[in-house]
Amino acid sequence: MYNSVVHRTLRYLLERALDMRLPQRFLDEIIAHAREGRAQDAEICGVLLGKDGDPTELVRVRNVDPSPRVRYYMDPQGLFTVMQRIEQGGLDLVAIYHSHPHTRAYPSETDRRNAHDDQGNPLYPGTIYIICSLEHPEQPAVRAFHLFPDRSEEERIDIVDN
Ligand SMILES: [Zn+2]
Repeated sequence: MYNSVVHRTLRYLLERALDMRLPQRFLDEIIAHAREGRAQDAEICGVLLGKDGDPTELVRVRNVDPSPRVRYYMDPQGLFTVMQRIEQGGLDLVAIYHSHPHTRAYPSETDRRNAHDDQGNPLYPGTIYIICSLEHPEQPAVRAFHLFPDRSEEERIDIVDN
């Protein structure tokens, strides 16, 4: 009995530690951003900054990909500003988000490739990739992943107040 309680507690703590905590306001902001993009038939992108894996700031970054309908490429100028903010605030790049206006909330091969350099090293180690799908516009789907060159691993999103 005691053992099973301990095991349950440990498992609970472990699962909690693996979840990504996402404040409701950022979820709403990502969906609103994705909807604006969809109105122009374009993917949108941005970042979540924070500490210890907890996002405290959302920054939109312009998608400057020449094919914004099906891909995103974060504006280098915008990224530079983000990196400055990270350094000044002692923050982490917790997550990069982008939208799929017409397809499911699952990383494409391009998404995985673009998250790595030519040697297959992550460009932003530890950063989570969030995808907002408006495949069903009335039911936005938002999911989070760790990207590897050959696969994606989903991370559960825990929506928290604030
Ligand atoms: Zn994508």
